Amino acid sequence: METVHLKINNIPVEVPKGYTILQAANKANIKIPTLCYLKDINCIGACRVCMVEAKNRRGLLAACVYPAEEGMEVLTNTPAVIKSRKTTLELLLSTHHKKCLSCVRNNNCELQRLAAEYGVDEDRFTSSEPVYEIDEQSPYIVRDNNKCVQCMRCVAACKNVQGISVIGAIKRGFSVHVGSAFDKSLNDSPCVGCGQCVVSCPVGALTEKSQEDKVWDAISDPEKQVVFYTAPSIKATLGESFDFPIGTNVEGKMAAAIRRLGEGVKVFNMDFTADLTILEEANELIERIQNGGKLPMFTSCCPGWVKFVEHYYPEFIPNLSSCKSPQGMFGAVLKSYYCEKNNIDPKNLFVVSVIPCTAKKFEATRPELRSNKEYDDVDVALTTRELARMIKRAGINLANLDDEDYDAPFNKATGGGAIFGSTGGVLEAALRTAARTLDGDFKKVDFDEVRGPEEVREVTYEVAGVKINVAVTSGLGNARKLLEKIKKGEADYQMVEIMACPGGCINGGGQPLQSDTVRNNVDYKALRAKAIYDYDLNCEYRCSDESPVIKMVYDEYFEAPGKEKAHKYLHTTYVQRDKYYK
Ligand code: SF4
Ligand code: SF4
Ligand code: SF4
Repeated sequence: METVHLKINNIPVEVPKGYTILQAANKANIKIPTLCYLKDINCIGACRVCMVEAKNRRGLLAACVYPAEEGMEVLTNTPAVIKSRKTTLELLLSTHHKKCLSCVRNNNCELQRLAAEYGVDEDRFTSSEPVYEIDEQSPYIVRDNNKCVQCMRCVAACKNVQGISVIGAIKRGFSVHVGSAFDKSLNDSPCVGCGQCVVSCPVGALTEKSQEDKVWDAISDPEKQVVFYTAPSIKATLGESFDFPIGTNVEGKMAAAIRRLGEGVKVFNMDFTADLTILEEANELIERIQNGGKLPMFTSCCPGWVKFVEHYYPEFIPNLSSCKSPQGMFGAVLKSYYCEKNNIDPKNLFVVSVIPCTAKKFEATRPELRSNKEYDDVDVALTTRELARMIKRAGINLANLDDEDYDAPFNKATGGGAIFGSTGGVLEAALRTAARTLDGDFKKVDFDEVRGPEEVREVTYEVAGVKINVAVTSGLGNARKLLEKIKKGEADYQMVEIMACPGGCINGGGQPLQSDTVRNNVDYKALRAKAIYDYDLNCEYRCSDESPVIKMVYDEYFEAPGKEKAHKYLHTTYVQRDKYYK
């Protein structure tokens, strides 16, 4: 490998040819501030915050795009560099609505942090600030362009990572701003709701549509019984909002904290309905294979991916498993089985799911998910970030809480349910159960081959004489490539798992925000995924079909996977959507 040698702040560093100055500085442990740059997502050299000087080079250089060259001597903190960065920040702040005190990004805003680091605390430039109408029409994302710094990280996440491109720069000059085609609301666009734009935004211009107040109202309503359930990945990510290291499992503290949000609040484990999804999905896969059904079968537990198919590949709708997602199944179980068993009027049961993404906020509003026409099965879907804010507002110190279990009867689940939180997890859990169903003596539990960060993992397994070709990918840009391959007849799979967010739900659009300083330097997705797989290894049961709660709900209510009652409550339908509009 060809390398180049340079000095940064007089420190010698050797890097592969093709590295930028920023990458070389990272290697030398020298921090250069960035704003528009986001590793693997956006590298456009637009914001000019990363400017540096180099001896014998004229002017300042943008470190994120300028290549490291042989013999170069870079200086990252000269008076000219500092002055340039300060002026850039002052200009950015001159049109920024500085409502920091009540902004959800207060104390977690990259612009605020840079302003503090560079001592920018007054309005040196005044301008007629443009005033944008806040777009809050969608049920999942709010765009406030008054806080946008036009870094284009959201645009790049939507286009380069997800391959969707429903947002971009609109108009020119001073009027330029980010939005959807024809300046319409995001709600009128074919956005899939994944929220990858939100987690890429450095400031408070993009946020989830908050439903915290609705939950507080229900908690204080004596008529309502409030039940929460937490998705498989939340245990591995919530701690980050309370300064735990990335990848810390805080499941027991999380259950304790939710229970303390209000009198009578119950907290259940969504890993249970991940297990239930597997029972239904494995049964559906075997039926499709044995009875000539539509193959490959696609997993359907990710609502961002499902909406992507509905908008962009409707010809594949019959390939989607008819199983509801774990969120959808839990809402249906609670408002049918649980209410009947406990003599509760479903209208008085207030169901809150805690989820890793914004797409599940949309999913909760889907009419196809209702098991009864009169009410939604899921009343509110809260992101991990919203739950963290509720815990903080209630004055609960997560770190000080002792671990507590979830509430019965939905407190026990398996490792198969837990691994839903990471890419490959749904397919692996389905394989565990499908293999045991086809061959009672099948011993393999870890299907490591479908795990990992590779763009696409393709594996062939043989179980009881049946060959099963599977594929896994995450990120919708990758999903598009895989679908095109299937369309051209270049692949022959029986089952495919696709999650909209790169890495799966551990990197969902509703997860705790990590700043560029972390995202550019730490493999946070791997750390979060490790927490999930470690948890799986320590579970008493690792295959979904072993769960005692699963046995209970089938014995008492749903009879068996695929039976009429199970179908009525646990399965759903899909709709074809327009490619250009909502
Ligand atoms: S939610 Fe996803 S699809 Fe919608 S604008 Fe954001 S990145 Fe694009
Ligand atoms: S909304 Fe956020 S991510 Fe998008 S351009 Fe504005 S500041 Fe950047
Ligand atoms: S991968 Fe997970 S977090 Fe991302 S959209 Fe799908 S369900 Fe939501």
